[in-house]
Amino acid sequence: MVSILKMNFEEKRKRLVESLKDRGILTKLEVIRAMLIVPRHKFVPKDAESSAYMDSPLSIGLGQTISAPHMNAMMCEYLELSEGEKVLEIGTGSGYHAALCAELVAPENSQNPGHVFTIERHEGLVKNARDSLKKTGNMNKVTVIHGDGTLGYPKEAPYDKILVTAASPSKIPVPLRDQLKEGGILCIPAGSKSFAQNLYIIKKHGENFDSKKITGVRFVPLIGKYGFES
Ligand code: SAM
Repeated sequence: MVSILKMNFEEKRKRLVESLKDRGILTKLEVIRAMLIVPRHKFVPKDAESSAYMDSPLSIGLGQTISAPHMNAMMCEYLELSEGEKVLEIGTGSGYHAALCAELVAPENSQNPGHVFTIERHEGLVKNARDSLKKTGNMNKVTVIHGDGTLGYPKEAPYDKILVTAASPSKIPVPLRDQLKEGGILCIPAGSKSFAQNLYIIKKHGENFDSKKITGVRFVPLIGKYGFES
């Protein structure tokens, strides 16, 4: 058996994916494929590269984090992403989760590629995420927008799927509900500002929203007009 210290990034990525499969977190073939392809180490600061394939959140500067891989996997599975879909992400952070979504909605050689729109409030992170997405060949599938994601992105609405990767107050931002397509899915952590939150999957049916609580989570707060105050 190869020691983890001697493994290259690809081997470490495979090992992480196997462990997420063993834990029952990764089940869908397409999500497994995306997690095997997207190089998480290219989305973290240089000094954190060696930790990129541990299942833990990592600091990306400005007090923000890239979520733990099991959380990315779980959200991608619950969103039921498929080729051709239009996705809105609130909280670009490193750009890694947007790249995973892009791999699912616009796989290589797709005849019907979808697109990911992702919004980040910190300009410095927008720049870093764009650089990482460019380096990993994702810039034609992902549009990174600088702004307050609690307002959504009406210009491209409605969206098949919306994911929020920062914790919302219990009252889900109204613009996000409005910008979801009929039959669409919203995946959002909500609760208190200080890390006591639950992950919800919300499905839109006409005027109704079916909401299901998935599990307890810890996310940085969603700051903005329909989020928490900074
Ligand atoms: N999805 C990210 C990734 O793959 O690296 C991780 C996101 S990090 C846990 C949460 C991000 O949400 C932070 O970068 C934070 O600045 C951002 N954020 C918080 N409130 C926001 C808002 N109203 N609009 C856009 N981004 C916001």
